[in-house]
Amino acid sequence: MKDPLLFTPGPLTTSATVKAAMQRDIGSRDADFVELVAGIRSELLRIAGVSREQGYETVLMQGSGTFGLESVISSVVPRQGRFVVLANGAYGERMATIAERLGISTRLACWPENESPQPAAVQRLIEEEPGATHVAMVHCETTTGILNPVDEIARIVKAGDREFIVDAMSSFGGVSLDLSKLEIDYLISSPNKCLESVPGFSFVLARRQALEATKGRARSVSLDLLAQWEALEGNGQFRFTPPTHALLAFARALEELSEEGGVSARVARYRANHETLRRGMHRLGFVECLPAERQSDIIMAFRYPDNPNFRFEDFYRRLRAHGFLIYPGKLSQSDCFRIGTIGRINEDDLGDLIAAIGEVLDEIRR
Ligand SMILES: *Cc1c(COP(=O)(O)O)cnc(C)c1O
Repeated sequence: MKDPLLFTPGPLTTSATVKAAMQRDIGSRDADFVELVAGIRSELLRIAGVSREQGYETVLMQGSGTFGLESVISSVVPRQGRFVVLANGAYGERMATIAERLGISTRLACWPENESPQPAAVQRLIEEEPGATHVAMVHCETTTGILNPVDEIARIVKAGDREFIVDAMSSFGGVSLDLSKLEIDYLISSPNKCLESVPGFSFVLARRQALEATKGRARSVSLDLLAQWEALEGNGQFRFTPPTHALLAFARALEELSEEGGVSARVARYRANHETLRRGMHRLGFVECLPAERQSDIIMAFRYPDNPNFRFEDFYRRLRAHGFLIYPGKLSQSDCFRIGTIGRINEDDLGDLIAAIGEVLDEIRR
């Protein structure tokens, strides 16, 4: 049976060639593998617009994106440090949950889910928190698809001489971002979002100076960011079993990003996907949850339609039968569902999805 197309924020639809790249068994201590890993690490820096010479490093970490976040938070905040999270959705709140569980002194500052952290308020917050060593924010908050002003906030955090941690899980590679112009100390992302590969690990782009200063801070062995980096720098290997197949797939996915024309071409495809979705859903009478100026091209949240027969589970199942998977909502305040526009999908696929949604609405009305 054919797999449905995934209109989700990951794992998502990948190309046949990315999946095929996993049809190998490769030794984790072998020279071929060491070379593969080194290539991935430098390509990620290139995509971010930085280099080793400019003082940036890539650390690959086993586990999904959340493990990468937990690795950074548990490894870089000192025992006497304080962690401030600027949150406007579930993923921001998750960073605070991780820190609190680790016993890190944490302040969670929340904004409404349809608003971004306001620069002036962040400025005041930082002044109020002289002991805060680290500030964290999500770039594209996947809860709603809102794009947060990472550049403005980075300037404020740096002017206050704190370190800045950015969860760019659902934006890296799909939203233009030049790390050389941003003052971010740690950026965390994963292969199974805009880089269109399979799940299995996460990656951290770190400012070397910041990373080197974290000696002795790690609260975990397996998620120790500095130790992982030192191993990758030392013999080029992971400390513990790496997801070899996921790394093979990722190397292919990075080639396909380059073949597509790089991040700018991918941004343009996602933009076209988003426009097709937005126009089509408006035609069907759906209303989005976010103001247009803050909406990213990654994922879009829609309110449940004003139809007494509408049940999300039923809507989902009917779309599934048409070969399309959408995503439930995650907002705390309102009933909504989400449709992702990333992955190996294009405008035609979005057009097909819209047609199927139209048919399902007719079925429900009957
Ligand atoms: C997907 C995502 C994560 C991590 O999720 P995992 O399920 O652990 O991969 C974290 N933050 C954001 C903003 C995300 O979109």
